[in-house]
Amino acid sequence: MKVKKYKVKIIGNGEECKNCNILMQRREHSEITHKIRQMSYYFSEWDYCSNCKHVQHYEKFKVFNKTEKGNIAKYLEEQNMLFKNL
Ligand SMILES: [Zn+2]
Repeated sequence: MKVKKYKVKIIGNGEECKNCNILMQRREHSEITHKIRQMSYYFSEWDYCSNCKHVQHYEKFKVFNKTEKGNIAKYLEEQNMLFKNL
């Protein structure tokens, strides 16, 4: 069965693979799809080892998607600002 390939872009060298001690590929999404935005967070960049297929994620590349909860918090913040200005 043919598996639909995830669209990624190789943007350079990443860190060393802890299994193979070779530089991994630094990858990013070639496109931030609707599906990615539906998740609570995603990684903007990550490393991939072409040798052992190890995938390494880093906290610093974690991107949180806007949730409904987040929007409510922002709304309340704006309301507070409004009252402060009264
Ligand atoms: Zn490896």
